[in-house]
Amino acid sequence: MKIILNIGTHGNERIGLKVERELKKLNIDKNTLTVQIANEKAFKLKKRYIDQDLNRSFPGKKDGNYEERRAYKLSPIIKSADIVIDIHSTTSALKDAFIVTKLDKKTLEYIKIIQPKYVLVMNVTKNNSLMSQAKVGIAFEYGKDNDLAVIRKIVLGIKRLLKYLKIIDVKLPETKIITKYFDVVSTVKKPKGYKQLKNIKNYKLIHKGEVYAKKGKQKLIANQDFYPIIFGEKNYKDIFGFRGKKLKIRV
Ligand SMILES: [Zn+2]
Repeated sequence: MKIILNIGTHGNERIGLKVERELKKLNIDKNTLTVQIANEKAFKLKKRYIDQDLNRSFPGKKDGNYEERRAYKLSPIIKSADIVIDIHSTTSALKDAFIVTKLDKKTLEYIKIIQPKYVLVMNVTKNNSLMSQAKVGIAFEYGKDNDLAVIRKIVLGIKRLLKYLKIIDVKLPETKIITKYFDVVSTVKKPKGYKQLKNIKNYKLIHKGEVYAKKGKQKLIANQDFYPIIFGEKNYKDIFGFRGKKLKIRV
């Protein structure tokens, strides 16, 4: 079993360092759990990226810009692992988002062990994100960078998985969380000057016909029911976030 703990896909997100520090205490063999800083240059500079979002640059280009070259180099490494765990933070009010690019048997099996609150199946980025290259790719985007509760929850989730895979043997608290699944199908564009309304909350249904953003007296009206996902992320310039649909998963 080879697992990659991938941190720093976005160089401004520092939470991965803290997760790494916690997991180091478990003394897991380096060939079993390898830590990798995805966007090395941006991570050093504490910038989100150098030329473009690395998480939209896969599978990459041999002679492209920095992120394209980086993606090209990382792709085979990511493909070689049995599981890739990608750690992110968010500046939005999003909480407890567990992100996958597919819901196959293995991924579902691991989700049941980790017990996240929300699973986002990112169909919208399934071809160019880092995880799109993985056999099994899972990403934690549980909250803000310096939030201790967030770090604790991520570490607990990873420990549950490691225990299930018989890599560690530790006692862990039991929980009974009913996971909600969302299919994330498209982006919600943000025309210049528009602001989302205050009552718009991640995972809370926006009904068809409802106003979700305004620019002075001009309004943006939902043309279909949808769940707002990753709304309010400061790093997105021309989108509010994503459009989600609830998925029914039989467990
Ligand atoms: Zn990120």
